[in-house]
Amino acid sequence: MLKTTFAALAFCLASLTASAADEPPAAPASVRFAIVKTASLQTHEWLLFSGGRFEPAETAFSAFLIQHGNDRFLFDSGLGSQVDAQYAADMPGWNRPFFRYDQPVRPAKDQLAEAGIGPITRIVVSHSHWDHLSGLSDFPQAEVWLAAAEHALVNQPSQAVGGVWPSQVAGITGWKDIVFDRGPFEGFDASHDLYGDGRVVLVPMPGHTPGSVGLFVTTDSGRRFFFVGDVVWNAGALKTGAPKHWAARLFVDHDVAQTQAAIELIRAAMARDPKLVVVPAHDAKVQAALGLFPAWVQ
Ligand SMILES: [Zn+2]
Repeated sequence: MLKTTFAALAFCLASLTASAADEPPAAPASVRFAIVKTASLQTHEWLLFSGGRFEPAETAFSAFLIQHGNDRFLFDSGLGSQVDAQYAADMPGWNRPFFRYDQPVRPAKDQLAEAGIGPITRIVVSHSHWDHLSGLSDFPQAEVWLAAAEHALVNQPSQAVGGVWPSQVAGITGWKDIVFDRGPFEGFDASHDLYGDGRVVLVPMPGHTPGSVGLFVTTDSGRRFFFVGDVVWNAGALKTGAPKHWAARLFVDHDVAQTQAAIELIRAAMARDPKLVVVPAHDAKVQAALGLFPAWVQ
């Protein structure tokens, strides 16, 4: 009896070993993204960066849908369904000529629902300014990932320039810290690899706000993309490393020198990899060239 049991056990172990050895290695997860443009503003290039031309330029307000295997999340939330009320409540009157958006607004929530995509359970925000948090309230079930350095702003909402709007964070409870638990990445001090395979990696980019973050994504085609939030508003600024228009940077950049250091790190990454595609949160031209949701960038 005992002998039979041992024999059976040995057989089981052999089968287990064999099946483990025979199992093909897990296929790498498919990675792609889509640019969900929620609104835009017709403006001029010279207002976006120092040395910009006196030519029309379009600013986009976009959320970025990142898909990794069966998981997906939004990087920024774009302008949401409540943006008009939020703007009426919290944008100071003297700022309205400078910080605005054109109608119509097409919230990410509506675009994703039309395409049958949902639910969104995680939103990672590049920083906590109004035009990046507006859509949070459309996804009340989602975790909201934010760099720890940004939490002081969220905890004390205010209508001050650079402040977090009370109307946008009231009722948002799913805050999570982004923990930069890995070492330097692409010249940045630290990193957080969201899936552990190097395909979707967050890096700290303080300056525009204390807790601004950037996101590197490598898609299935091997193309590499770098979402840089508002470190620059327009990719044209990266040609020379130009800062924002002088008035704009005094208003909106928390630390001008630190923002400039982040711009130089982006330029260094571009120099190392000339094929790297840098995607500023508001550069409509770069985003249109890649294609907008429901198209995917593979
Ligand atoms: Zn912005």
